[in-house]
Amino acid sequence: MSQTEDRSAPPSPTPRSAAVNHPPLKLLELSPENVYGKCQALAGNLWWSWHPEVADLFRELDPIRFRQLDHNPIALLAEFTPERLEARAAELVLHSRINHAYRRMKEYLAADNTWSTVHAGVLGSKPVVYFSAEFGIHESVPIYSGGLGVLAGDHVKSASGLGIPLVAVGLFYKQGYFKQQLDLDGYQHEEYLHSRVETLPLEPAIGTDGAQVTVAIETRSGQIRAQLWKMAVGRVSLYLLDSDVEGNTPEDRQLTGRLYGGDNRIRIRQELVLGVGGVRAIRALGIVPGVYHLNEGHSVFATLEAVRVRMARDGYSFDDAVRKVARQTVFTTHTPVPAGHDRFDGGLMEEHLGPMRDALGISHDHLMGLGRVDPGNHGEPFCMTVLGLKFSRRANAVSALHGHVSRRMWKDLWGSHVEEEVPIGHITNGVHVPSWLSAQMLQLYDRLFPANWFRRLGEPDVWQRIHDCDPGELWETHYALKNLLLQFVRRRLARQCRRRGESEATVEAALKVLDPNVLTIGFARRFATYKRADLVLGELDTMARLVGDPDRPIQLIFAGKAHPADEPGKGLIRKIANLRHDPRFAGRVVFVEDYDINVCRHLIQGVDVWLNNPRRPLEASGTSGQKVVLNGGLNCSILDGWWAEAFDGRNGFAIGRGETHADPAVTDARDAAALYDVLEKEVIPLFYERDADGLPRTWIKMMKNSISSLAWRFSSHRMVMDYARACYVPAAGGLSCDMHAR
Ligand SMILES: *Cc1c(COP(=O)(O)O)cnc(C)c1O
Repeated sequence: MSQTEDRSAPPSPTPRSAAVNHPPLKLLELSPENVYGKCQALAGNLWWSWHPEVADLFRELDPIRFRQLDHNPIALLAEFTPERLEARAAELVLHSRINHAYRRMKEYLAADNTWSTVHAGVLGSKPVVYFSAEFGIHESVPIYSGGLGVLAGDHVKSASGLGIPLVAVGLFYKQGYFKQQLDLDGYQHEEYLHSRVETLPLEPAIGTDGAQVTVAIETRSGQIRAQLWKMAVGRVSLYLLDSDVEGNTPEDRQLTGRLYGGDNRIRIRQELVLGVGGVRAIRALGIVPGVYHLNEGHSVFATLEAVRVRMARDGYSFDDAVRKVARQTVFTTHTPVPAGHDRFDGGLMEEHLGPMRDALGISHDHLMGLGRVDPGNHGEPFCMTVLGLKFSRRANAVSALHGHVSRRMWKDLWGSHVEEEVPIGHITNGVHVPSWLSAQMLQLYDRLFPANWFRRLGEPDVWQRIHDCDPGELWETHYALKNLLLQFVRRRLARQCRRRGESEATVEAALKVLDPNVLTIGFARRFATYKRADLVLGELDTMARLVGDPDRPIQLIFAGKAHPADEPGKGLIRKIANLRHDPRFAGRVVFVEDYDINVCRHLIQGVDVWLNNPRRPLEASGTSGQKVVLNGGLNCSILDGWWAEAFDGRNGFAIGRGETHADPAVTDARDAAALYDVLEKEVIPLFYERDADGLPRTWIKMMKNSISSLAWRFSSHRMVMDYARACYVPAAGGLSCDMHAR
């Protein structure tokens, strides 16, 4: 008798015997034959997170709890008994949808006719090992802080979609990045979560010896240990190192607790666990890496461990082992300012890498020299990026402009005076289309685009079809998305007011902010100084005039976190948040707390305009604007990062013409003037220029230009295909087509 039939039988009059007849609970939970088992299987692989129809299944089970639980399906299912879930699914008639989703996931995981089979076959059984200090996959897994993490998450998802043999390595931050709350005065407070392994899609990573993998790393001041967890992201396994294990000092048990929370000593210990521990963990799993891809400098110690293994196992000299490892290594740099790169002094290096250099048979000076631009300069600290550039045959920046900046920044490393000779290429970042595309736009594309378009995201022809779209239909779809965004913002603001104990009248007012017919500008990102969140508020009187214009008003939605130690950043947030007390801006300029993947998804799907005004050239790429493109919003941006190569005069708006002045204050003033200029002369008139049907025809044309010219180019599928062709395949020993690489 199947368990389903068992439970649909009339309740037994004698509960005790019914209990005896029941299969053991554990068995019931794990069986993929029943609703509970299938839901658990779906929740256990983050594949569900880029399939909105599967997320909807979880949501429908209990919409309020799902929201309260950060859309975490494992935590949600834990609140159901199998019996109650079965009853709830029957009540909502979810069975066939659950079955369908489960079957689709199974098929996806089993498919072998992927892009990679044809184009990256050489990787075969030797996968790419992709290292990153953070991964932003979904809001319910808080092991990311911002763009770098979300990029890594999108990279992993596209590698899964393309079928690239890739495993990922990161750290398990039990407390993750913080939750942001503003007090009555608009001041940011940080609240740290305590994730429980049981409510995350984690399982112990089992090594070749049949036990959970643990690694140990010697330092001069003792041993650091870490255990390994595994998280399934579609076809990709993401392995996370966790130092909260017995045997570690209390201090080291906290080591992987928080992202970017500590001082330089904590930082080097984290990076030791990530890089050296990561390579050891991969070996303990029985995986033989074909390629090492180091996403930013944090994981560069991995190369030292790989060299050590080559020397110990294959008998190579240090120099030969370095050459071998470098050939396999791809290094991606993300930081356009010298000060942004991790640097460690000789003391920290000797304490943490001393045993490693003993094994490598090199002196302290030799090791330090590997991390210096000028190896003989004893005043120069050890820089992770320098080691990364020296120990990788292929290195890249993340946009064309950032490529120039990086080559200029590191040219001394090659003793070169000519930027063109510096062997750092670029592969521009992109975003994972299924993760960021709204269900509404997906439906519209499904109607317009060729049948298998979702498999051809990187092809321009596919996206040209948007020009056939009825302008009214595109505008209505966008309007619906905008309304959803406004509802989200109002709900969030009301919740913020209630938490702060504000009056019922204030809560009521929060539920009425913003107007769907008003030009809506979104600005959301980390509150790092160079991103200049307050540029648009530089001249408050001008802003007040634009916001309060009786015929053509604008409204702004802000969000973003400041680093806990960044007081100026927190000051900016307070300044913006407190505009709600200024009658000129009340209800028209709002600040939504706790920017994360969820808040980002709502914003980028509903805004008319996405504002991006970093101090050029400090935004290496930026990706949030690429998410906006997919959903029909327009970018208004400084010509920096990806926008410098994306803007063509017809697919959005440029602030200024890409000039910078040696004095940042002058640059800021000029950029602010250029920003007001483009808003007043281009953005606002175009948005309010309506035809007899009330449609902004030229604006809609620009939306179409934006989608058709940008969506295919700035997808992470295109990005990962570029990495595969230009880096992974040649690094693994396949035929080279080194267009970006050395
Ligand atoms: C996409 C994303 C980012 C990256 O945005 P930028 O354009 O680099 O500012 C940062 N944080 C979150 C939560 C995101 O989803």
